[in-house]
Parts: sequence; C-alpha cells; structure tokens
Amino acid sequence: MSIADNLKRVHEEIALACAKSHRNPEDITLVAVSKTKSVADILEALAAGQQHFGENRVEEAEVKIPQIKNQAETSQVWHMIGHIQSRKAKAIQPIFDMVHSVDSIKIAQKLSQLAEAEGKSLDILIEVNVSGEDAKYGFNGVNWQKDAQIRENLWHDMESLRQLPCLNIRGLMTMAPFEDKMEVTRPLFAELAALRDSLLQELDMQLPDLSMGMTNDYPIAIEEGATIIRVGRAIFGER
Ligand SMILES: *Cc1c(COP(=O)(O)O)cnc(C)c1O
Repeated sequence: MSIADNLKRVHEEIALACAKSHRNPEDITLVAVSKTKSVADILEALAAGQQHFGENRVEEAEVKIPQIKNQAETSQVWHMIGHIQSRKAKAIQPIFDMVHSVDSIKIAQKLSQLAEAEGKSLDILIEVNVSGEDAKYGFNGVNWQKDAQIRENLWHDMESLRQLPCLNIRGLMTMAPFEDKMEVTRPLFAELAALRDSLLQELDMQLPDLSMGMTNDYPIAIEEGATIIRVGRAIFGER
C-alpha cells in the first residue's frame, strides 16, 4: 500500500465515522503524524494532497521541516504534538503553526513570552490527561467530573493560562492509553468533550478544537466530537 492509498483509506474511514455521527468531514482536520518518517515520505504525502503534519520531537522537526519547506510545491501546516522541554521552547514558533502539547503553566508562560518578544501570538491546545497513570504529560483531568479537588485545580490552571497574552487557546488535546481497545477509549474522549463544554459554560472559554484520536481509535474520537485527529501508522506504516 502506498502512502496515497493509505490516505485515501483514512479519508474513507473519516467519512464513515462522520456519517455515523451526523458530522461534516470538512470539520475534521487530519494531521498526518510524520515522526521518525523521512522527508521523502512526507513529500509523498504532500503530493497526495495532505497538508497538515505532526511531529513530536523538536530536534527532529528542526532538521526535517526546513528541508520540506524548501522542496515542497504546496504549503504545509505543522503541528507540535509532543512534550516540549523548556530549553527547546525557543525553536517552536519559527517552525510550528500550532502546539497541541501545552502541558504545564511553566511551558505556557515560556511560549507566551517568546511569542511576545517576536510580536506574535501562538495557536495552542491545552493537553489534559483524562486517562490516569498511563499518560505522562498534561494537566490532571482524571475523573474531573467527580473529583472536586481535581476540578478546582484544573479551573485554577485554566484561569492562569487564559491570562497569558500571546497564546491563542484554540481547544483541548488528549492522549488515550495506547493499548486499549476502541470502546475503552470512548468514555475518555467523551470526558474531554464534556470538559470543553463545562469550560465554556462556567468560565466562558471558547475552545472550538478537540485534538483526540490516533490510528487505533480515530473513528471513535470523531464520533465523540474530535475536530483534529492525529494519525501516524495508518498513513505512513509502522514505525
Ligand atoms: C505518535 C503520536 C500519534 C500518532 O500515533 P499513531 O498510533 O501512529 O497513529 C498521535 N499523537 C501523538 C501525541 C503521538 O505522539
């Protein structure tokens, strides 16, 4: 199967999931997760019409993205989806269009300061851990609907994040545990969607985007309201 064939298949699955949940496929952004994959693979995906790409390591992205920008005939949108170390924050704004993985107040402050120094603002998503021990990063949202302390801490963090002048908060992102079956991850996606709704109602935070769903579970994520899915292996093959 070529990358173009794989993309076609993923788009068919997206259309099916949208039909099932009465959604419009145009409202779903497919981010092709190209981590560990070569420049040639990414150019092949671009030639097949793919525009959005995700990388999870700054070191790797810093090398690959400029090469692709030089060689590609069509424009790309680059998404940072991995944990960002403080010392690497400087490299983000010049190469990425959106950051999905804002997982602490500290890194958020740093990214806002760096954007401010450039006279820019950065589109970001807030990473929330709704699944428990399995996820290493993200604001703690485990059981937020029942646990008053978790909820209070989360609300407090959201208030701090929205004060940062140069971050444009577009929504929420979550990682589901990798090994779980599709139907196990569904309630976690529903919890992230419910969190988005509560933050709108209670804090008047507009969070239009939900980044959730990977190769194993993106149709379920779409059914539960994802607007951005991050798919690697189904497009580029196993890593
Ligand atoms: C690797 C990765 C993905 C894609 O995973 P696949 O199983 O290859 O689809 C999505 N999101 C994040 C944050 C990742 O690190």
